[in-house]
Amino acid sequence: MALAARGINALKRAGVYEELAHDWVPMHGRLIHGREGGTSMQPYGVHPDEVIHSISRHRLNRTLLDIAVRRFGVDVRFEHRLESADFDAGIASVRDLRADRLVPVRMRPLVASDGAGSCMRRAMHGAHLIEAREEDLAHGYKELSIPAGPGGSYVLEREALHVWPRGGFMLIALPNADGSFTATLFLPTSGPDGFASLTDRCRVERFLRAHFPDVVALMPDRLREFEAHPTGFLGTVRAEPWHVRGMAALIGDSAHAIVPFHGQGMNACFEDCLYFDACVARHPSWEEGFADFFAARKADTDAIAEMALENYREMRERVADPKFQLQSALSRELERRHPQRFISRYSMVMFHEEIPYRVAQARGRIQSRLLGDLTDKVSQLGEIDFDVARREVEARLPPLAQDLSSVMKL
Ligand SMILES: Cc1cc2nc3c(=O)[nH]c(=O)nc-3n(C[C@H](O)[C@H](O)[C@H](O)COP(=O)(O)OP(=O)(O)OC[C@H]3O[C@@H](n4cnc5c(N)ncnc54)[C@H](O)[C@@H]3O)c2cc1C
Repeated sequence: MALAARGINALKRAGVYEELAHDWVPMHGRLIHGREGGTSMQPYGVHPDEVIHSISRHRLNRTLLDIAVRRFGVDVRFEHRLESADFDAGIASVRDLRADRLVPVRMRPLVASDGAGSCMRRAMHGAHLIEAREEDLAHGYKELSIPAGPGGSYVLEREALHVWPRGGFMLIALPNADGSFTATLFLPTSGPDGFASLTDRCRVERFLRAHFPDVVALMPDRLREFEAHPTGFLGTVRAEPWHVRGMAALIGDSAHAIVPFHGQGMNACFEDCLYFDACVARHPSWEEGFADFFAARKADTDAIAEMALENYREMRERVADPKFQLQSALSRELERRHPQRFISRYSMVMFHEEIPYRVAQARGRIQSRLLGDLTDKVSQLGEIDFDVARREVEARLPPLAQDLSSVMKL
């Protein structure tokens, strides 16, 4: 998983960063693998410390659980599944799966972080206490692995997020600390290039060889994994509000799951914790704290949901387009020249935790139009008139500090 500034900030504020920081691999940019086998690097930021970090989901989960138990005395019960909630009685029903027994739990309150398919959200919605929509993407994903080379060496560039963009679909790979890579194939669920048509080993092999010939040899276990690993579903969850009185609240994916193409789902969830803490602390009742959390956070999670959807198109299609590459280069140059006003949208989202998602989205729209106008009739960075560009930046983009003056202090 990609961990970026928002996640790191929250981990630091929770005092757990130090125990995690040695487990990840920095990624400096996207390494694009073209159809003919050529590669090109697209740096993520303009400063050397603007990197994102690749960390194994398994290791992150284990470390956080371990810290929760060891340092904070959290009582963890595995194999217990929330099955329903009665909001009149204030009781949730949790099944102890080992004993196959239903345990009533008083919601005083119950904060549910049960993920995108949240039982608690569905219970709230089923009782007509909140609005909730689950919007499935017509694309799914499959995890495959690229093992380490001899002696734990990396068989692809180590410090990059690898992307094989193929228009309607793509393959990506993130480095792990042990020399391996975790690859994820994103495909439409139906259609000729979709999961539904890859029904046997022969078709899978033909598909992989046709579209990703350079990587096939690096995935010796691909056919077994393709069969054994489930096809994951992707979607966006929109709910409103995220709580029922002072009794139960949603946090993380249960409230606002997003598609994974900006690498922000987990980062947004960690950031949620900071907002949740601050909102609950400044009110005398849970109900007011929950309501404040929703009010403070909803516009931001809506914004990242949209940006994550837009990024899918960017990663699978646009990264290979020369116009996109020119605009990325211009964007980095404008950021170097006008850092108080212009920061690429990607950087605002990934490297600037002080900029709320909604501000990044709004400024990103203005910047996108500006980049389009400035590159309309040019094909190289050298042809840009930077005096005109400066005037346009100053006219269209207020200083960032102005947009941040009313942001909630955490
Ligand atoms: C393919 C993919 C790649 C991703 N990559 C990234 C990335 O690079 N960077 C990033 O920031 N985000 C990424 N994400 C998003 C990230 O995984 C999620 O945003 C994040 O895990 C959400 O955390 P959560 O704790 O809210 O929910 P989850 O991580 O889904 O955890 C929910 C927990 O609740 C438990 N649970 C579920 N139902 C019940 C129940 N009824 N009773 C009790 N327990 C229950 C589950 O077992 C699980 O332990 C990715 C997502 C996907 C699908």
